[in-house]
Amino acid sequence: GKERLRLPPWLKREIPVGKNYNRLKSSLRRLSLNTVCEEANCPNVGECWGGKEGGVATATIMLLGDTCTRGCRFCSVKTARAPPPPDPDEPRHTGAAVAEWGLDYVVLTSVDRDDLSDGGAVHFAETVVQLKKQFVRDPRAKYKQSMAVLRHVKESDSNMITKTSIMLGLGESDKEVSQTMMDLRDAGVDCLTLGQYMQPTKRHLKVQEYVTPQKFEYWADVGDKMGFAYTASGPLVRSSYRAGEFYIKNLIE
Ligand code: SF4
Ligand code: SF4
Repeated sequence: GKERLRLPPWLKREIPVGKNYNRLKSSLRRLSLNTVCEEANCPNVGECWGGKEGGVATATIMLLGDTCTRGCRFCSVKTARAPPPPDPDEPRHTGAAVAEWGLDYVVLTSVDRDDLSDGGAVHFAETVVQLKKQFVRDPRAKYKQSMAVLRHVKESDSNMITKTSIMLGLGESDKEVSQTMMDLRDAGVDCLTLGQYMQPTKRHLKVQEYVTPQKFEYWADVGDKMGFAYTASGPLVRSSYRAGEFYIKNLIE
């Protein structure tokens, strides 16, 4: 046969290294998951998994095992006529992996499983259910649930002091902040803290805005006018901020 062509320099890639790359790799092994990135020897793996400087970290999880029933000539994924049955834990593990990686973007694909009567459809559906359960929680549901918990505490014992916190700088509008504060008052919440969101690691949500101290003062004022017993609002205010001080003040009053 013909000799293989030499790889031109623009296609040479560095061997993937780096913290993020290693983290992804070890959790994939621990959860017995496969990726098309590895199975197809994708040359971009270092870049995609590593989330190049300022870039978006991506991985493509390959469902239904590492062995395909087709044998496309250009593809380096293993093939067999009757691969082992799909791992029943794979949907759950996929959800867990996606939740723990905190990637910006995840692609799900699969090998072809012509040997399965449903082609793996049920397995796919279960994976989506698991992803939703472990990762894509509906933020509106969480909001409603939080309000319901606060309301319930107050209704079951009106002497109980309730307190909650709002983080600013995540891209919220003024209207959303004041609506949330009104909802909290409506749920009988006594104390409120407002602080600046800070991005804990590169993989967490980015700060959209550094809210000025003046704006925090403005919210403190709004809180007072709305009738909160106590509104602590400032860039460095945290949910536990001066919690003790407030507690003592309340006991004395
Ligand atoms: Fe390659 Fe796609 Fe995986 Fe990136 S995400 S390494 S391009 S297979
Ligand atoms: Fe590869 Fe997809 Fe072909 Fe299977 S069907 S051999 S995974 S290209």
